[in-house]
Amino acid sequence: MKPKVGFYELTGCAGEMLHILNMEDILIDVFSKIDLVEFRIASSVKRPERVDIAFVEGSVTTEENLEALKSIREKSDVLVAIGDCAVWGGIQASTTGEDWKTLMKEVYGVEENYFRFLGEHKSLSECVKVDYELPGCPIEQDEFVRLFIELLEGIEPKIKDYPVCVECKIKEIPCLIVEKREPCLGPISVGGCKARCPYYGTPCIGCRGPVREEANVAGEVSTLVEKGWRKEDIVKRMELFAKRYKDIEKLVEVKK
Ligand code: SF4
Ligand code: SF4
Repeated sequence: MKPKVGFYELTGCAGEMLHILNMEDILIDVFSKIDLVEFRIASSVKRPERVDIAFVEGSVTTEENLEALKSIREKSDVLVAIGDCAVWGGIQASTTGEDWKTLMKEVYGVEENYFRFLGEHKSLSECVKVDYELPGCPIEQDEFVRLFIELLEGIEPKIKDYPVCVECKIKEIPCLIVEKREPCLGPISVGGCKARCPYYGTPCIGCRGPVREEANVAGEVSTLVEKGWRKEDIVKRMELFAKRYKDIEKLVEVKK
């Protein structure tokens, strides 16, 4: 029997789902190996049944999201968070700490909680047990395919946790901090994108989120300060994708 797989969306732009659908060359091959239970933007099929693997995109932003996520968790053997919103709360989480009524007023002109907003944008792992997390904004297609096949084959997936700088060095790209004094977040951002931005001469803004175990935030800040950048501007740049990082206190400390 083919494994049952579901793709689910919470609050986000559906970018991960689109990115998966855009794998045109291999999509049919990959999907012929599974029994698709739900994938909203790909199929009208929606079977509310137990799945072997659930891929979930988006942050937990509303009560509806939270209820949906708990239900998905209950009926899934393996739950995979895909994309920055699911893994880190996404760009929307950069508003963490701000008053939601003020935000509602600024964006929608009202203070009523129409969307049953929770008051913050949480990652999936803050709400339920998550088995694997695939970062990216959007995810890398090759990483997704690899993880998908590993799960189908019963192989324990290995999720990357090294900085973008490693891939930068492999590709022999001149360092933008050293050569051009650019505020590159490569030293604290998790690799896997093959240093896409530095490759095109653009500093990394950390869209894959921080390296989990060894992100040297203080080192990154002091290096950039030495290069003439203001602490508050560096921290603001980091907070775009990393506001819910466990070491956020370090970012706050360096603000002072
Ligand atoms: S350009 Fe950025 S990612 Fe590349 S080595 Fe320098 S700091 Fe690291
Ligand atoms: S270099 Fe940085 S900003 Fe660019 S894709 Fe990679 S992690 Fe994202």
